[in-house]
Parts: sequence; structure tokens; C-alpha cells
Amino acid sequence: MLNTHQQSDKKALFWFRRDLRIHDNHGLSYALNHYESVFCVFVFDRNIINQLKNKQDRRVEFIWRSIEALKQSLIKQGGDLIVLDGAPNSLIPDLAKQLKVQTVVTNHDYEPYALSRDNQVETQLKDLGIQFLTFKDQAVFEKNEILTAQNKPYTVFTPYKNNWLKQLSSQHYTYFDGPTKHFAKSSSLDYLLPSLTDLGFIETNLTTLKIKAGESGAQELLNEFIPRMSYYHERRDFPGIRGVSYLSIHLRFGTVSVRELVRQALQLDNKGSATWLNELIWRDFYFAILWHFPHVAHGAFKKEWDELVFENNPQLFNAWCSGLTGYPIVDAAMRQLTQTGFMHNRLRMISASFLVKDLQIDWRWGEAFFSEHLNDFDLSANNGGWQWSASTGCDAQPWFRIFNPITQSEKFDSEGSFIKRYCPELKDIPPSKIHAPWLLSALEQQQYHCVIGHDYPAPIIDHKIAREKTLARYKLN
Ligand SMILES: Cc1cc2nc3c(=O)[nH]c(=O)nc-3n(C[C@H](O)[C@H](O)[C@H](O)COP(=O)(O)OP(=O)(O)OC[C@H]3O[C@@H](n4cnc5c(N)ncnc54)[C@H](O)[C@@H]3O)c2cc1C
Repeated sequence: MLNTHQQSDKKALFWFRRDLRIHDNHGLSYALNHYESVFCVFVFDRNIINQLKNKQDRRVEFIWRSIEALKQSLIKQGGDLIVLDGAPNSLIPDLAKQLKVQTVVTNHDYEPYALSRDNQVETQLKDLGIQFLTFKDQAVFEKNEILTAQNKPYTVFTPYKNNWLKQLSSQHYTYFDGPTKHFAKSSSLDYLLPSLTDLGFIETNLTTLKIKAGESGAQELLNEFIPRMSYYHERRDFPGIRGVSYLSIHLRFGTVSVRELVRQALQLDNKGSATWLNELIWRDFYFAILWHFPHVAHGAFKKEWDELVFENNPQLFNAWCSGLTGYPIVDAAMRQLTQTGFMHNRLRMISASFLVKDLQIDWRWGEAFFSEHLNDFDLSANNGGWQWSASTGCDAQPWFRIFNPITQSEKFDSEGSFIKRYCPELKDIPPSKIHAPWLLSALEQQQYHCVIGHDYPAPIIDHKIAREKTLARYKLN
């Protein structure tokens, strides 16, 4: 599909999607280097946003703010951003025709919906005699770039990672640049940015949460993380401290380039940066799993696990969603998710395991709930994380390994500082007793101002009994 032919007298339309930045943007750089005039467009895709039940959605506000910033940056550089609202499969070909461009340029997206949308767009453009060029941008390695010696996709992470590291060379994290003088000015009056209200959404608590959108938001967060990266391997598992990067929302919407993150990690070259790089490799791994095995979007990676029977008790599910299970670490995690749209990785593992292996609820229910609430929701990583936790995935947690929510809590939030942040009703309970508050005597409950069943729920299940039930269920499959 790639046409390296110099087309200096021609016009292109660059279509932004999951890459809301000007710097180090592969497709955009190609367009600027090969075309005289480059128009830019972003479409609020109704096929996606109309599906969102909650009209106070942090992701939509984040995108909207990032688009606002992107438009300003493009105007400053002599260009503009055409912002459309509707279905891209018709809007993009119509716009390309109207602008009389020879080519539409964009970056790859690996999700099933995006692939079918791009196919439709490509076909329509072809009918109009317009070419469609796409580039790798959101992954370091994609599709068939990392395969086994037998030319098969990897289904186990460690050998995938080893090969990923072996093949990595500077060309994979090169900085993509382009002459900004080729940005074309569209008549901006025709393409004003619709307001959030025009889009049918309302403002969220993003500002209160200090989640800053756009490239500058990403850069600020990255600058704050770089000095902490060296300690990542020691701190990343403790939700009560600032040990992780919180960059996932920026990676999700492409307000930061993954190549920039790889360059930073390689430059630091220590234990912390190597552990962090490992996480970026997990990201590529799950992109590749979804690409090679799209059936995971609907069912178990290992198809035999589709037969697994769940109890799916709606009351237990509602208690989990509301952070009212009586297990403080799970409740604090779920409240963090619904109040902020973020959940720490350790807590994603604990709460996912709890849903599937303690509450006996289908992992797809949890996957769907996370997909509605996570600011960084990404089909491949979310599905990978859920299938890992449910033991149905490619390189998953073995089915007989079941997290104990009490010991996980004692180990990773020993002082209960994270729990107290989201479960203030437990704030007076000492660290040694906060992980299983139902064991407090009646006197202690009075003393610590937390009466179980009144101020905080009694546990909705008994972990020991649930564990035995789950082992039997998985064994039967
Ligand atoms: C059940 C479950 C659901 C998850 N859902 C998502 C999701 O929808 N979107 C998402 O980006 N991540 C998901 N993850 C992975 C991980 O929890 C988040 O990427 C991480 O918590 C984001 O925080 P951070 O940016 O501070 O990560 P850091 O620890 O700073 O890691 C840096 C980056 O590496 C990537 N990364 C880290 N861990 C993973 C992983 N296990 N798999 C894939 N990429 C990873 C992310 O892009 C992350 O931003 C999920 C994990 C589980 C167990």
C-alpha cells in the first residue's frame, strides 16, 4: 500500500484517530514530506460515541480537549483541523473529494470495528480514484513483525518479548518529522469545533482530577515520570504510592508517541526503565493477539474455556460495581475506577480475579464494565487483562491460582493508605485490622467508628468457600 513516490505537487488529507498529536506522528510526517498541501481532519465518530450510555464520559471530554489543543497547534503552524461529527465511512470520502486531494493518509488501528471502517473508506476512496495510505504508529512492532521461528504468532509473552528486544533497532523508535510549511489552511469557519454539548455530552471531573489532555498534558506527565522511572520496578505494585506513569490515557489516544517512551526508557537503561519497557511490550503483545486472534473480542482465547459455567448473580455483580463487596481492597479499587476512570494495575488484577473467581461471574461482564469506565480503555489490553485473570487467555494465570483478596491487600497496601483514600468509612481502623474489617469485635467496631453491616458492608461471600467452588468449576471444564 505504501507509495514512496515523491508527490510534491499534490494534496493529501491526514485523518487523525488514535494519534492526537503533531510530533512524532508517522502518517502525518509521511504526508508532510510527500505532499505540497496537507489538510487535517478529525471525526467524532457517531458509530462509537452513540454507543456510550453515560453522557458524562471522561474519554469524550479528554478527546474533545485534545482536539481543541491540536486545532490550536495546527493553526499556529499555518494549518488547521477540520472537525466533523458523524460517520467517517461517508464523511472522509466526501471530504477528500471536496478538497480534491489525491491521497488520504492515516495510521493503523487494529480493532475489529476500525478495520472494517477503514476497509469501507478505502473502497469508497478507490471508486473516487483517491488512494488510501496507512502507517504503523501506535505500536513499536505490529501484525506479522514478531513471529516464531515457524512463522506463527506468539501466544506466550516471554519468548515474544525476547524476540521483540532482539529485533529492536533505532529504526523502530525513530522520530518522525515533517516540514510544517506544507500544512494547508482550510476555511476554518466551516469547520468550527463542536462543543461538548453539541456532541450530546457534558463536562466531567477531568479538571478536578488534574488529568490534562493533549500533547502538552502528556509531555508534562512524562517529564514528571522520567525521574521516577528508575524506581518503577520497586514501586509499581503499590497503589498507595505514585509508582506508575499514569500515561495510559495518553497512549490510548496517541497524545504521546510510544516511540518517544521507548527512547526515554532506552536512554535511562536501568532496572526500572527495563521493567517499564516490559509493560510497553505487553501492550504490543496484546495488540498482536487481537490482530491474529480476533475471536478473543467475543470469547475465550482458548476456546475450550467458552464452556465454563458461571453463576452470574446480578446482586453480587452490582455490589462489585458499586464498591460494596465488604472486601476493602476490592471496594477501594472499584471506587477509584468509577470516581476517576483509572485503576492501578495491581488492583485491576485483584478486582478482576475477585469478580470471576470469588463471585463466580462471567469475565465478560467485568470486561464490559471496565470498558465503560476506564479512561484508558483499549480493547486489546482490557481483553488481555481479563482473560489473564479469568485463566481463559493466551498466557494466562493458571486456573488453580486464585488471588486471596486479604493477603493481596496486606502485601500491596499494608498501611491501608489506598483503602482509606476511597473507603473513608474505614479511616479509623488500624492497618493490622483494615484488610478484613468483619473480624473486628463489636467493641472495636464502636471504637473505630465503623459498624459492619451499617457503616460498611459485611463480606458478600466467604473467600475460602468461593475458592473451593471455583476450583471445582474450573476442574470440571
Ligand atoms: C483486568 C485488566 C484490564 C486492563 N485494561 C486495560 C485497558 O483497557 N487499557 C490499558 O491501557 N491497559 C489495561 N490494563 C493494563 C494495565 O493495568 C494498564 O495499562 C496500567 O494500569 C495503566 O497505568 P499506567 O499508565 O500508569 O501504566 P504503567 O505501569 O506506567 O505502564 C506503562 C504503559 O504500559 C502499558 N501497559 C502496562 N501494563 C500493561 C498490560 N498488562 N497490558 C498491556 N499494556 C500494558 C500501558 O499502555 C501503560 O500506560 C488492564 C489490566 C488488567 C489486569
